[in-house]
Amino acid sequence: MNNNLGPGAPIHTGDIPLCVPEIRGKEWEYIKECLDTNWVSSAGVFGSRFEAMMADYVGAKHAVVTINGTSALHMALLAAGIGAGDEVITSSLSFVAPANAIKYVGAWPVFMDAEPYYWQMDVAKLDDFLTHQCQWQNGDLVNKTSGRRIKAIMPVHILGHPCDMDPIIEIARKFTLTVIEDATESLGAEYKGKMVGNIGDIACFSFNGNKLITTGGGGMVVTNNQEWAERALYLSTQAKDDPIEYIHNEIGYNYRLSNIQSAMGVAQMEVIDDLVAAKRAIARRYQDGLKEIQGLTLMPTQPGTTPVYWLYTILLPPDTTLEKRKNMVTALNARGIGSRPLWHPIHGLSPYSECQSHLIEVSTDLYRRAINLPSSAGLTEQDQQHSIDSLKTLLV
Ligand SMILES: *Cc1c(COP(=O)(O)O)cnc(C)c1O
Repeated sequence: MNNNLGPGAPIHTGDIPLCVPEIRGKEWEYIKECLDTNWVSSAGVFGSRFEAMMADYVGAKHAVVTINGTSALHMALLAAGIGAGDEVITSSLSFVAPANAIKYVGAWPVFMDAEPYYWQMDVAKLDDFLTHQCQWQNGDLVNKTSGRRIKAIMPVHILGHPCDMDPIIEIARKFTLTVIEDATESLGAEYKGKMVGNIGDIACFSFNGNKLITTGGGGMVVTNNQEWAERALYLSTQAKDDPIEYIHNEIGYNYRLSNIQSAMGVAQMEVIDDLVAAKRAIARRYQDGLKEIQGLTLMPTQPGTTPVYWLYTILLPPDTTLEKRKNMVTALNARGIGSRPLWHPIHGLSPYSECQSHLIEVSTDLYRRAINLPSSAGLTEQDQQHSIDSLKTLLV
């Protein structure tokens, strides 16, 4: 693996970052092309090239770039027809963006727990909620508690591991719900031979600085539904109905990624296979290096899936208190080893205190025990070994 990062590489401080970009392809060349030709804004050739590469990569028919992953989620929800007063079931153990996007369209999130084995949305609890807490009313599935219509499931494939999509799709079909995949953390992961992001009805990716590939900030909606793709493109480009006369028949959004950033995305897509391979090699080395530590739970892999291990994550022993986990993160960071906890489960955040959640216990437990370890695609074996050794010292 080429670790000669060249110009633009982060200044080396001796610290091992949690997860930073890997810029070693044709990023400079393509961005320079934008500057040289004056195509710096949202028009230009790179947007559609980036879209075509992403559609091809996941095997979907259509892709639409956006300014970030959160706006991709917003567009996917609108394209799928989710609106005011609808409800969307989503994962509580996630970065907050999917819940925020659900609120942007006036809908309500219902928070679902994680299962303890692979840390993804619990499909048994999902089925239990839809079967026992909801009922059919004039052809709509209605939440008995809130009286609102359930319209979609938004599973979040966290940390580079796929959700158990076969049962999710089966449950969605049974209850006529749309499946919107938040695949922002799991680009490159596979579930039973299918690419994450091409399993549900529509999916979203993020190209934030810490994601598998980055454009500084960026996102993408991916779907096989042509009408929805056209709608996402239309709404993300100000809902322009006449190319010259400023006719807008709907309220649009200024969400299209710039040509400069899409140029970077194209360069990143050209090396995506290397980045995925690097993440998997990092996971294998952690697995080997940490397996003898007593009481530690290493990052799991569901049989039939090939995760991308976006952020390598471990669980501290079951009796670990929140305080102890916080101290471990602090101790690792003090030694220059980038570490973070998982996200505070969303159902416990104040903007969501009024929202319904279903039997959540595992998400809270995982949040109490989990820590992320350095996972940059460019992580050297030496730095990784140093992280492993430090963890061993701190844990015994
Ligand atoms: C990163 C991320 C997003 C999108 O984030 P942006 O910063 O808006 O690109 C959405 N959902 C999850 C779960 C994420 O981790």
